[in-house]
Amino acid sequence: MHLIGSRVIAMPLRCLDYNGNSIQAFDLSDDGWEALSQENSKARRLRMPCCEALVTLKRSRLGTKFFAHKAVGDCKWAPETEEHLFLKRLAVEAARAQGWTAETEVRGKTTQGEFWKADVLAKKGKHKVAVEIQWSGQAVQETLRRQERYRASGVRGLWLLRQPGFPISKRIPAVCIGGSLDEGLTALLPRNADMQARDRRHYDRWNQVLSMEAFLRAAFDGRLRFGLEAGQEATVRIRTGNMFCWSCGAETRIVVGLEITVADKDFIITIPSLGEYPQATEIVRRCVSTHHGIGAIKHRFSSTQRRTYLSNGCAHCDSLLGRFYGLDATWDDEPLDTIRVRIADGWKEVIDSCGWRDTWCVCI
Ligand SMILES: [Zn+2]
Ligand SMILES: [Zn+2]
Repeated sequence: MHLIGSRVIAMPLRCLDYNGNSIQAFDLSDDGWEALSQENSKARRLRMPCCEALVTLKRSRLGTKFFAHKAVGDCKWAPETEEHLFLKRLAVEAARAQGWTAETEVRGKTTQGEFWKADVLAKKGKHKVAVEIQWSGQAVQETLRRQERYRASGVRGLWLLRQPGFPISKRIPAVCIGGSLDEGLTALLPRNADMQARDRRHYDRWNQVLSMEAFLRAAFDGRLRFGLEAGQEATVRIRTGNMFCWSCGAETRIVVGLEITVADKDFIITIPSLGEYPQATEIVRRCVSTHHGIGAIKHRFSSTQRRTYLSNGCAHCDSLLGRFYGLDATWDDEPLDTIRVRIADGWKEVIDSCGWRDTWCVCI
């Protein structure tokens, strides 16, 4: 464990009362904390959840309430930073706000009898999520091993990692912890595996940057996803422009490109490139055919390219207007049509060709 100066304090945010019920330090008001402290120093009925040691109530340098072992004995609790404590509390409160029950410092066991300890364990119905906060670096293999241990216990692990540069995969939902306690902690969602940022400050390398609170709420609200879901929709704006036909000289409108917005990312594709994707082509072709004064979208033979490809044409003489003519067209201010399409209807391949990479993202 990497220890950061005087910020280091040991210990949990949870203890057990004499009935074995959990008490979370941050759930108590200042008066409630004082009352519990006085009662406990007389009755000594509070116990640590890790080892049943007696408890003393303490405050960190920054005023965070926490429970400490009266005598540590052979208990293996590692020291934690102030940030670590703050994030545990944030995770519990975010989970509760979305209707989960959640506690800090929860121990569990796999069916094979392996023990684990989660920073936060949240439950809702049959779903269990462990939030793991890793302030120091952790080897990829170790993260995978701990994730597997959770999986073997029917728990999904969600990782908040301070060190950037971790791999991105569907198996491990993970974000990088950005910011500071003073400025506010943020969740940095990596763009994709080959662009994994090694420096937290380079915001342009991140797919999304959210406040940690907003991120955790989204995660417990089912809005953290890997890649796109089949039912997810994209917005396609059919952008047109005006030009003069090289063949008949008349002015005509053509489709200069499609602007595609999905999961708050924008892509653009031209008609010849769209031609590789028949299902998406058909949707656009039908849409365009309902408008007058615009050339049909269809396959035409190009004598210069000696091949047939999906193209714009002249509304008057149907001559092929190749991709380079499109560059000269004056773009119309408004899109011809704005349509909602399902990703599953052939559009995933289109956005993949535009550079989309599956990664973890929060649906806003
Ligand atoms: Zn203990
Ligand atoms: Zn023409």
